[in-house]
Amino acid sequence: MKNTKIIDKKCLIQKYIVENKTTTEIANELNCSPTKIGNALIKYKIPRKKSGPRKGSKLSLEHRQKISLKNLNNTYCKGHKLSNEHKQKISKGCRGKNAPSYIDGRKKKLNAWKKQVRIRDKMACQICGVQKQSVEDKNIHTHHIKSKKDFPDLVYDVDNGITLCRSCHMTYENRPKVLLKLIKE
Ligand SMILES: [Zn+2]
Repeated sequence: MKNTKIIDKKCLIQKYIVENKTTTEIANELNCSPTKIGNALIKYKIPRKKSGPRKGSKLSLEHRQKISLKNLNNTYCKGHKLSNEHKQKISKGCRGKNAPSYIDGRKKKLNAWKKQVRIRDKMACQICGVQKQSVEDKNIHTHHIKSKKDFPDLVYDVDNGITLCRSCHMTYENRPKVLLKLIKE
């Protein structure tokens, strides 16, 4: 079992910092994985050296000036602000009916489904029993028992819907199994 050997802190400092070896080199020497060396460095709180071809080397002033000169000529979108009107136009272009994901009639169908489920459940949360006065109440949610993603055929099925209050919906949204158990009881 070569990987169970505990790496000695002193040995690690000697190789990693004093001899300036990489984790891969040390791993090869100790016959274990570089990940293990990395984990040991974390465990002993030894700061990691910078990796990559530059290894923390600094650019010369000349080199930096060259880069900045090159960037000066790069005028793409520089100082170019959109007018409010323009921004609104862009925003309008991807909302509601103009949204890329818009499917005609989907929202209407979904709203009708929600209403049907809520009326069937008498506008009460089916878990905690909180009752709401109106079908339009924002704290009353309609949840798909079988997810829309996995059961696209059941999206508008009233039997696949359940009325939940806001907090119960948040609790059980991602726990379909627990929810199913509670409903059955
Ligand atoms: Zn509830």
